[in-house]
Amino acid sequence: MENINKKTNAEVLDQILQLKKSFAGRVLIAAHHYQQESIVNIADVVGDSYRLAVIASQSDAEVILMCGVRFMAESAAILARPDQKVLLPDFSAGCPMADMTTRASAEKALASIKALTGENAVPLTYMNSWADLKAFTGSKGGSICTSGNAKKIMSHYLSAGRKILFMPDKNLGINTARSLGLTENDMCLVSQDGLVPADCKNARVFLWDGYCPVHLEFTPDQVLDLRAKYPDITLMVHPECVEEVVGLSNSAASTEGMANEIARSPSGSVLGVGTEYRFIERMIRGNPDKTIVPLEKFYCSDMDRITPENILTVLKAYKEGCADSYCVSVKEQDQNDARKALSAMIAITEGV
Ligand code: SF4
Repeated sequence: MENINKKTNAEVLDQILQLKKSFAGRVLIAAHHYQQESIVNIADVVGDSYRLAVIASQSDAEVILMCGVRFMAESAAILARPDQKVLLPDFSAGCPMADMTTRASAEKALASIKALTGENAVPLTYMNSWADLKAFTGSKGGSICTSGNAKKIMSHYLSAGRKILFMPDKNLGINTARSLGLTENDMCLVSQDGLVPADCKNARVFLWDGYCPVHLEFTPDQVLDLRAKYPDITLMVHPECVEEVVGLSNSAASTEGMANEIARSPSGSVLGVGTEYRFIERMIRGNPDKTIVPLEKFYCSDMDRITPENILTVLKAYKEGCADSYCVSVKEQDQNDARKALSAMIAITEGV
C-alpha cells in the first residue's frame, strides 16, 4: 500500500513539474518553510511569509501559486502588480491566530485606549493577520512587523513616545517588549473583544490576547528535559512561544533567522529548535554535519491543507483557463491601506 501511495505521489509531482515547465516561468510556486518536503522540492522560492510576498511580487510571473496559509496569499495579493494573480490551492488553509482579531474589535480597542489614556496608540500588526487588519493598521498610521523586525519597529514607536496596540500575537509582543527592557507594568492585555482593563492607564504596549496554538504547545518542562538530555545544546525557539520558554532558550528567532543561525553554526554543533516540525525536519536533512533535535514535534494542520494533489488541480485549472475560483484578491481600498502599513514597516526597518 505504501509503495502504491509513493508511486502516486511521485506521479503527481512529476505532472506538476511537467506543467510548470510548460508554463515557461509564467507561474511561480512559492512555499512557506512549514510546507512538506515534496512541496518545498517543487517550489521556485521558499521562505517566511514576508519573504514570499516580496519575492513573489518582484517576480515576472503572471501567477503566484502560494503554498501556505490564506494570510500569506493575501499578503502576496496586497503587494502584487495589477496584472498578477495569486492562487491558493485550498481556501480552508487558515490561521487560528489571525482569526483572533477582527477589524471591529481592533477599532474598539484603539478607542478604549484613547478614552483611558487620552492618547492615540499606534497599531503594530504582525504579518500573521488578515488583510483587513493590515488595512486597518495602515489607515491608522501604523505598521506591519515580522518576527524578525518587531523589535526595531516597537523600539521606533516607543522612542517617539507612542503607545502601541500590538496585534494579534501576545507572545511575540511580550518577548519583543522584554527584549527592549520593558516590565510587566509597561504592558497590558487587551481581550479578543477589544476590551482594555481600567488599570492600564500607564501601559506603553497594549497586547492583543492572541496566540499561535502550535507554538503555544512548547513548555518550560520540555526545555528542561531537552537540556537534561543534551547538556551542551544551544536552543533556539520562535518568539511566538511563551516568554518562559524563550527565557530558558539561548535565542528567539524567526524561521529565516533560525535557518541562518543553523547554517552559521560550526560542524559538530548540537542545536535544539522549537518551531513547527516540518521546518526542523528539513534543517536536519540539510545539515548532516550537525546534531539538530526538535524541542518537540508539533505540526500546523492549516499548512498541511496544501498538498501535491491540490497544487496539481490548480495548475491544471490554470492551464484550462478556469482557475478563478482559486484566486485570492483584496479589496482595492484595503490593498492601498495595507500597502501603507507594509511601506511603514520597510521604511522603519531599512531606516529610510
Ligand atoms: S503555525 Fe501558527 S501562526 Fe503559523 S499558520 Fe499555523 S497556526 Fe497560524
